Amino acid sequence: MGTSSISEVSGGSFFFRRVLLPTGWAQDARVTTTRDGVIRDVQCNTVAAPDDTKADTVIPGIANVHSHAFQRGMAGLAEKARRNGDNFWTWREVMFRFATKLTPDDVEAIAALAYVEMLERGFNRVGEFHYLHHSGDGSRYADPAEMAKRIAAAAHETRIGLTLLPVLYTRAGFDGGALHPGQMRFISDIEEFARLVDACRRLVSSNPECVVGVAPHSLRAVTPGELHAVLKLGAGGPIHIHAAEQQLEVDECIAHLGTAPVEWLIDNADVDDRWCFVHATHITETEAVLLARSGGVVGACPVTEANLGDGIFPLEAYQTRKGVLGVGTDSNIMIGLADELRALEYSQRLAQERRNIAADGAVLSTGRVLFNAAGEGGARAMGTRWGIAAGQPADFVALDTENESLCAFEGDDLLDTFIFSSRGRVIKDVWRAGQHIVKDGSHIHRAAIAARYRKTLKALVASL
Ligand SMILES: [Zn+2]
Repeated sequence: MGTSSISEVSGGSFFFRRVLLPTGWAQDARVTTTRDGVIRDVQCNTVAAPDDTKADTVIPGIANVHSHAFQRGMAGLAEKARRNGDNFWTWREVMFRFATKLTPDDVEAIAALAYVEMLERGFNRVGEFHYLHHSGDGSRYADPAEMAKRIAAAAHETRIGLTLLPVLYTRAGFDGGALHPGQMRFISDIEEFARLVDACRRLVSSNPECVVGVAPHSLRAVTPGELHAVLKLGAGGPIHIHAAEQQLEVDECIAHLGTAPVEWLIDNADVDDRWCFVHATHITETEAVLLARSGGVVGACPVTEANLGDGIFPLEAYQTRKGVLGVGTDSNIMIGLADELRALEYSQRLAQERRNIAADGAVLSTGRVLFNAAGEGGARAMGTRWGIAAGQPADFVALDTENESLCAFEGDDLLDTFIFSSRGRVIKDVWRAGQHIVKDGSHIHRAAIAARYRKTLKALVASL
């Protein structure tokens, strides 16, 4: 288990020359916080007090709605071509081989680096879609929550906000065929899973900021009966599921259940604003309408979707229906908020041969529309609220306005530049729940966490 040496801070006060609030950009804002790192008050157009912590331009952090932290360690290992062609399913073979090797210590070391990178790159919270439950051959650990504990420890050490989503995965596919050896450590039955969910809740019970949800892996990996059993365990928290990532999976769903996955879920489960449909890449127009109406969130992961060759999410059709959207780093092939938002917009431009697709009639800044959407939708998917406002965690991301990319810009121009054109480390400082955890672009525990990661990864890659 990692332990933290980040000192607990007392209440504080901040002064920001420019800050993005839920109501828009504000000037000369003084923000006071409680001892627990919660925002007490925000005053604009005021003056700084002598002891205020000062920053030039501050934006709120955004939730990373979908991560498999361990996959950070295999980033780059699946970029070699195979003779018979590559796709998501051949990538998955590499992932199984890598996942089988990981010890609990390895997972904690990899997750800690992934979370450091998230905090340094604009994310304040992670939705960890956690399915690595057992040892490599599927034998059970003495503590059923051993691996979940390691995820919680990495989150605690780095101070990233955690929405922990234990995953139920019971079968290889719709036809219930033989399990791949690489899947043995994911598989649980519903009784085991119920115990795991309880254990996860106990694990984070001392941290009111942590949220525990449930995640039936996908319609191919759980039966309809198991899905309904998982939903009963949800206890009002978030519900996340992979849906319509791959056309093959959609076709199999239609063959076995009669309709495409998103439509089936909306027809057969009480889908509401607690739901996050991860990917939703291959949804139909009808599904876009149903999904938007349900209040559920699409968890788009455009960098991973590009890397895996999944396809392009129909952003415009979904936005037109006022669909809610968050972004996630999924495979962690790259980690960065700006990277995800840029990839989401660029995929649309490439497909449609037009520019500024996400911008709407009311807000013309593409960056601002994407940033706000991912902020609001991300918080909904995480079971939290978003933005710099009283009652919210004091999560502040200070941009380096001296950086050559940003130096001449303000407001939405600055946000557009941050997302589409920033070079180098443009995030200078980050406060999470009032604690100054990124200074001059680096997480305060980066050196130790990176050293542990290097040792872990070299040994793992040598063992493959
Ligand atoms: Zn995923």
